Amino acid sequence: MLARTDLRGTAPTLAELRRALPRGGTDVNAVLDTVAPVVHAVSEQGADAALGFGEKFDGVRPTSVRVPAAVVADALDRLDPAVADALRESIGRARMVHADQRRETTRTQVVDGGVVSEKWIPVRRVGLYVPGGNAVYPSSVIMNVVPAQEAGVGSLVIASPPQKEFGGWPHPTILAACALLGVDEVWAVGGAQGVALLTYGGIDTDAADDPRSVLDPVDLITGPGNIYVTAAKRLCRGVVGIDSEAGPTEIAILADDSADPGILASDLISQAEHDVLAASVLVTDSAELADAVDEALDAQVAATKHRERVTTALSGKQSGIVLVDDLEAGLAVVDAYAAEHLEIQTREAAAVADRVHNAGAIFVGPYAPVSLGDYCAGSNHVLPTSGSARFASGLSVQTFLKGVHVIDYDEAALRDVADHVVTLADAEDLPGHGDAIKQRFVGGQA
Ligand code: NAD
Repeated sequence: MLARTDLRGTAPTLAELRRALPRGGTDVNAVLDTVAPVVHAVSEQGADAALGFGEKFDGVRPTSVRVPAAVVADALDRLDPAVADALRESIGRARMVHADQRRETTRTQVVDGGVVSEKWIPVRRVGLYVPGGNAVYPSSVIMNVVPAQEAGVGSLVIASPPQKEFGGWPHPTILAACALLGVDEVWAVGGAQGVALLTYGGIDTDAADDPRSVLDPVDLITGPGNIYVTAAKRLCRGVVGIDSEAGPTEIAILADDSADPGILASDLISQAEHDVLAASVLVTDSAELADAVDEALDAQVAATKHRERVTTALSGKQSGIVLVDDLEAGLAVVDAYAAEHLEIQTREAAAVADRVHNAGAIFVGPYAPVSLGDYCAGSNHVLPTSGSARFASGLSVQTFLKGVHVIDYDEAALRDVADHVVTLADAEDLPGHGDAIKQRFVGGQA
């Protein structure tokens, strides 16, 4: 079923390798013309325009942008207790891992009397986008909120599309996850208009008598979304910070002949199930394993719930099997590919995983599947896609912190280095810089 790229007996350069590997991609530029007027209208007219676009694209207009507190609380009361338990477990594990990511202030004594510290200050107010078009992702609420809370962000708002079948409010499971996490500001707005409203803020005119009706703009927007959400993030970047432009999800598996083909097939399907554009790639030095995985895929795809979506994803140009000569060549392939999720299903998997340079997250051995990381490993599932794992990281506490240098020199320490500062200022033809140093010392002499 999966297309094959046979690299055996070849020695491709990095550029050739990148071209040869299965890769999809969405053309965000293609929807910029659709999204730009939406962003512009919301930037000018605020909530009213956002609600109007929601009516057009989501087919429903909630009575207010801000979801009433009682609706959020009620969603948790009605949540299936098993789902509530699972969400609590997921939150607890994510908290453990993300709490360990907090950063201490560093303090460097450069010279006697001269200290440079770096403080890590949380972003003041953050907007978390939670998708709500085709599927419901309470796990995304957890993966966005927990690192923000552990970073110490003081003000969090969640935006998620209004749903026709729930009276115009976001999906109740999303609301219940917000309640479990203690987030009480939730807006029923999605798509490009949601991103724009988070960026520019507004007044919730439909709830004008409610003192909570002011929608304050945020400083940073995080969270995944479809192509319209991504295009709006691209347009709003600069006015607001954004985490990344998330593309369709990807799994790559590096496997040798010790791997179980049934497990590999189910893991490839598990990511293909997300999206018709999702990528599932197997890299192996065993042609026998590749054949066995194909066979297992035939059987498992036929039985899986979302088989149409899975079949489209697996037969797309973004998915396939890459055959290599040996593990060394396999490592070169996965590094060139830089998958969002990389599974290592080889002998001595931990040692092999240690040698990987580029991946959003690495899953070691047969008992650490991507599904575990999607929900309950404790790790974050918002990860760099489309090869950006070569230079980017997944969502973490760091995403929500700003490093600020604090420079504290006394008179003697400044005098000690003054000549060098003046010399460098003159070398850059910026004598005013040097004068600012000289001015501090008697007679304006450094
Ligand atoms: P979404 O909330 O991102 O998008 C829905 C919104 O799109 C709607 O509210 C509507 O306003 C807008 N829209 C729809 N059609 C439009 C049109 N023709 N013109 C303008 N706007 C339009 O939800 P979704 O569609 O389900 O997409 C979610 C995406 O997020 C998927 O691609 C999924 O794979 C991805 N995702 C990624 C992760 C991750 O961690 N990487 C996690 C969860 C979801």
